[in-house]
Amino acid sequence: MSKFWSQVVRDLEPYVPGEQPQIEGLIKLNTNESPYPPSPQVIKLMTHDAIDRLRLYPDPNSKKLKNTIANYYAVNADQVFVGNGSDEVLALAFMAFFQQENPLLFPDISYSFYPVYCNLFGIKFNTIALRDDFSIDFSDYPRRNGGVIFPNPNAPTAIGKPLADIEKLLQQNTDSVVLVDEAYIDFGGETAISLVDQYPNLLVVQTLSKSRSLAGLRVGFAVGNVQLINGLDRVKNSFNSYPLDRLAEAATIAAFEDDSYFKACRDRIVATREWTVKALESLGFSVLPSQANFVFAKPAANNAAELAQQLREHKILVRYFSAARINEFLRITIGTQEQMQHLIAVLKNL
Ligand code: PMP
Repeated sequence: MSKFWSQVVRDLEPYVPGEQPQIEGLIKLNTNESPYPPSPQVIKLMTHDAIDRLRLYPDPNSKKLKNTIANYYAVNADQVFVGNGSDEVLALAFMAFFQQENPLLFPDISYSFYPVYCNLFGIKFNTIALRDDFSIDFSDYPRRNGGVIFPNPNAPTAIGKPLADIEKLLQQNTDSVVLVDEAYIDFGGETAISLVDQYPNLLVVQTLSKSRSLAGLRVGFAVGNVQLINGLDRVKNSFNSYPLDRLAEAATIAAFEDDSYFKACRDRIVATREWTVKALESLGFSVLPSQANFVFAKPAANNAAELAQQLREHKILVRYFSAARINEFLRITIGTQEQMQHLIAVLKNL
């Protein structure tokens, strides 16, 4: 606490990201990054000329990138918004749409950045309990609200919702924005982007950080009705008019264009996930059904916190949350097949 802090800063409860330690030989299964490098097409862009052009500001509207994303998802470029990681896109969306009289609704077990943004922007919120099986129950959502947000698949549970259920929610909730945070959608879910033309209050947010191996580049995007995109632009242009740097825009375009590389990496991660689930179950873990690039798994001996610590001593980092209802679970990112075999071998010994 410093006397120089404003009251707003005093009252903040910042988000705590997963650790990024610099330890030689560490197997990092704690922040849901891809174990595979970005597309080789991304590396080719880092030329002398591209570096020289960093003297100049980038396109404030990232038009080329918006065209690429629009083509990829068969929408119009004016239905696309891009930002510095989906965290930034989410923050701008909270400001643009959720500062309302009625509370924002989201699941009680979900991405822990949502309550942080609410605190930052003075947004009221209500959390809605997941069912006993940790799935989201949309029947509790149609009520007076200033917006609805949930990840699909949810984090940290990894459980996905079918598109038909999301559409039913949209039919019942027409007076506030429904934001679907699809950070992990590529690993088995079905994107709601196909619904944006029908539902003017639907905003879908995705990231390049997971399935496209670009967490270090910080690129995220939103797709929705033009009016929603205009709302986001108004906030963005009042905050930072050049959020995406030149290299980020070019690399993201290259990543989208190299679709076969994207699919190959994704398929490997999904295959390794299925192998890992079986291997964990054979060691007595209960594993929630995963549609993501991580699994949420509960050891039979109910010693999740201790196991996380022991794995750390073996240079394997996984994520442990001490919050009620999930404090018996470990969230384990899917790494390469070799990394997961090593994890299972270490767990067997423990
Ligand atoms: N949404 C969810 C559900 C996430 O787990 C994450 C990753 N922490 C993000 C959004 C943000 O990812 P990024 O800012 O890297 O795009």
